[in-house]
Formats: sequence, structure tokens, C-alpha cells
Amino acid sequence: MTYRNYHKKVEKICKIIEKNKNLITTSRKGHNHRDLQFKIKQTKIETAQLDSILSIEKDWIDCEASVSVGQINRKTIPKKKMVPSLPEGDNFTVGGCLGGLALGSNSYIHGFFNNNVIDFDIVLGNGDLVRNVSKKNHSDLYYGIGGTYGTMGIITRVKMKLIDCENYVKINYLHYKSFNEFYSDFSLRIKEQKDDFIEAFVNSKNDFTIVCANFVKEIRKEEILIIKDKSILKQRHMCIYAQIANKKDFNYLRLVDYLERYSYSAFWGHYLYTPYKLRDYLYAGLVYSLIPRKMIQGDGLNVGKYFLAANQIVGDYARDEHVLTTDIGVPLSNLRKALELVDEMTETYPLWICPSKDNYHPDKTFSTRRKDICEDNMIIDVGIYGIKNSNIDSKIINQTFEKFSFANGVFKGFFSTCYFEYNQFWEHFDKNKYDQLRKKYHASSNFMDIYEKITYRNDSKKIAKNTLRSKLFTFFGKGYLRQINMNKKKLIK
Ligand SMILES: Cc1cc2nc3c(=O)[nH]c(=O)nc-3n(C[C@H](O)[C@H](O)[C@H](O)COP(=O)(O)OP(=O)(O)OC[C@H]3O[C@@H](n4cnc5c(N)ncnc54)[C@H](O)[C@@H]3O)c2cc1C
Repeated sequence: MTYRNYHKKVEKICKIIEKNKNLITTSRKGHNHRDLQFKIKQTKIETAQLDSILSIEKDWIDCEASVSVGQINRKTIPKKKMVPSLPEGDNFTVGGCLGGLALGSNSYIHGFFNNNVIDFDIVLGNGDLVRNVSKKNHSDLYYGIGGTYGTMGIITRVKMKLIDCENYVKINYLHYKSFNEFYSDFSLRIKEQKDDFIEAFVNSKNDFTIVCANFVKEIRKEEILIIKDKSILKQRHMCIYAQIANKKDFNYLRLVDYLERYSYSAFWGHYLYTPYKLRDYLYAGLVYSLIPRKMIQGDGLNVGKYFLAANQIVGDYARDEHVLTTDIGVPLSNLRKALELVDEMTETYPLWICPSKDNYHPDKTFSTRRKDICEDNMIIDVGIYGIKNSNIDSKIINQTFEKFSFANGVFKGFFSTCYFEYNQFWEHFDKNKYDQLRKKYHASSNFMDIYEKITYRNDSKKIAKNTLRSKLFTFFGKGYLRQINMNKKKLIK
């Protein structure tokens, strides 16, 4: 029955695309910290209807493309199974994670999300459906899809690997006062692969915390740090970062809460995006009320909704001048240099450090390192999410990070504001390989080119500045950020 429904839904999408003469995009706003004005002029494919889990067996789960991480976790964890390398928030979708790029704190063992995909279906720009794309079937598309950000086709189904898990995790927080001590332990733990999950935080220049989580079978219920819902009043207790800031040594969580820990707090972004004090409720409320209802996908007054609302606003480039949301890829071996650069350019703290195995394959274009430059198979995602404390232009900061990552054989996350220069971008990535793949799978004239899609457009700033929403946000947002800045010292001791 579910597969029959799935086929009906896909047939509908195929028909729309077959008749279409325009460029095509998904209707989803998703996790994109950049201008999405281009969507207005394109044919939007309603992917939200692809929201059913189709089948689950011992070693795999098969889902329609808009099934969310939250849906999967709730289905698999009771069976003591989980999908490796899912991003750690509940509202990412499997189509977005495959078509974009995603990782989690067990990616250091399992690689990026796309590395754990068994097969998928995709509707091409001519309306044809290609079924069961896998390592053996259309392998060029299987390896090539990662990081193409919706420029190859509309993914409709994704089948993923399942691994064993337990219902609870113990989280250990290891605190360090010097980079050398931190780095030596961090790289050793990564090499030994003894932890089920690992990530780290740079709290301030000489303050580091490794966070490692391991499955536990038995636990005294009163020891678990539980969050019953996503109420904005409770999320602070849940936030991993609050544990770090308070220099805790360990705590226990239900696995589902661990795996979705950043949807409650948007990393520590709730200090940026959601209320901190009474006055902030006002600011957030005002900002929130300016957003047209149809753009808001959550229900109830929850953090996910605020997060989505904040996402909408961040598309205004004006905000980038106050708040940074950007990820730098760097080999583990050059982490020190990356952190020095971030400090020099932004003085933004805390920083998220998430390792991922790269699993190079020659048919990958945007989801792997340049092997000729970077020998290290362990890539670190340095996440910079917070208040910019320098006076350097956001554009210059991002361009410096982009060049730095490329020079290291890796790249900066495409979901955030990108200012790549055309030549530099295509010197790093293989344009010929990308163009050939697009031609072969009928994407060239039906889906936007990736460079065009992800890089900053010159007219963006003008559009953003001229809207009432943008002007009001800048006015209220500045006050809101000042408020957060004033409280920062209390948060990071
Ligand atoms: C605030 C924020 C926090 C983030 N946190 C994390 C994190 O913790 N871990 C992590 O790994 N990543 C993180 N990311 C990056 C995120 O995982 C990727 O951008 C991911 O691709 C988003 O998935 P989504 O389901 O929201 O997809 P969307 O944002 O909707 O889409 C991502 C891209 O994939 C394309 N796409 C979506 N659906 C389809 C489809 N059905 N067919 C074809 N193409 C499609 C879209 O066109 C788009 O270009 C974050 C991003 C932001 C903005």
C-alpha cells in the first residue's frame, strides 16, 4: 500500500516535470542560510508530500525523500537501530541530506550521510524516473549526487543502512586548557574509534571540550536528563552547550534526545534566535510576527518554529554582518591553523568541531576532498555559529575561509552564505565531471547550475535592504544581539 502510494506521488511529479519548460526547484525552504529569491521564478516541486516511511528491515530503512530525521529516529530506536551519520536535529530530510551534505557525531566512523545510502530514486529534468541508483546501478550518479544541492534532479526515495544502538547514551565532557592537550586526546580518540559518537567545542581561545557519547544498556531512570517536549522554556536545560559551559563531567540522555540535541537549542543558537530574557521574547515575537504564515512550517509555539523563522531572516544578507553561520572543512592535521584563522577573523565562540571520515571516490565531486592536496582521510567541520566580534566584512571573512579550505583540499559548507569566485571554485571542483553528469541525466537545462545557486548574487543585498521586514529585523535584531552580547560572559565561564 505504501509503495503503491509512493508510485502515485512520483508519477505526479514525473508528469509535472515532463511538461515543464522552466528551471525546477523544491518547494522547501530547508536549511539554507542564503538568498532563495531564485525560487520565485522557478517551477516548485512540492516534495513535502513525500513524507512516508516505506519499509524497515533489520539492516535498512526505506523512506520517501521528505521523511525527517525525527520520523526516522522514532521508528528505528525502539528497534535498537539507527541510521548512521544523520545530522543531529529533527527537521532535516533524507532527500536534503543526500542532495545537500550532512554529517553527525558518528561520521568519524561512518563517513558523511551519503556514504550510508544504499540506493535512491530520482526524477530527472526530462520527467524520467531513475530507480534504485546504487553503487552498481548508475554508480556515477550514486557517487556524484552528494553536495549537488538540488541541481541534479528531484530525489523521491532514499534507502539507508541501519546500525545497532541502545536506548540511552552516557555523555562525557573532557575539558582542556591548551590546544596541544586537547588535540592529542582528540586525535587519539578519533584514531581508536572507541567512542560511539565524538565531537568537540572551542569555548574560547584556550578552552576546549571533547564531548564523547557511548551507548549504555541499563540506566537508573532518575539519572537521565529528560526533555519532555520542545517548550522554549525547557530547551536551555537540554542544551549540550549549557553542560559544557557549566563544566559538567558527564550526564545521561535518551538516545533520541542526544541525536536531536541541536534541534532544541540550534547548537547554542537559542541565545541568538530564541528568547533569553523577557525583553527578548518581545524582540523574537516581533520578528516572528513579520514572517508570513505560509512560510512557517512548524506547529505550536516551539523552538523548531523559531529556528525556521530565524532561517528565513538569515537569508537577508544584512544579518550576516552580525551573526555568522558558516562551516569550514579542514583536515584534522591542520585544525590548529583553522582555529587560529577563525579567531583572527571573527573572535566568534563557541565553535563546533565535528570529524568525518571522507571516503574518497573518484566519481564524487562536491562531497569529498581533493586527494592530490589532502592526504588526511579525517575531515573536520569547524562550525562557526554565533555573533561576529570583529569589524571585518562578512564577505571578506567568508572568502578567506573559502580560500583556506580549498588550499587544504577541502571546502566550506554550501548551505551557508558563499562568496566563491568563479575561477577559484572551478579550479577546485571538476567542472567537466559535473557538467557531463548533468548532461547525461538531463539536468543541464532544467536545474540551476550549482555555482549560480549557492553563491552570493549581487542583487541580493539590494533586495534584502529594501524590504520592510529586513529593515525592521535589523532594527530589532541589533538590539536583540546587543542583549545577548551583554549576557555572553555569564554563558561562557
Ligand atoms: C542552521 C543550520 C544548521 C545545520 N546543522 C547541521 C548539522 O548539525 N549537521 C549537518 O550535517 N548539517 C547541518 N546543516 C547543513 C544541512 O544538513 C544541509 O544543508 C542539508 O542538506 C539540509 O537538509 P534539509 O533536509 O534541510 O534540506 P534542504 O535545506 O531543503 O535542501 C538542501 C539542498 O538539497 C536539495 N534538496 C532537498 N530536497 C531534495 C530532493 N528531494 N531532491 C533533490 N534535492 C533536494 C535542495 O535543493 C537544497 O539545495 C545545517 C544547516 C543550517 C542552515
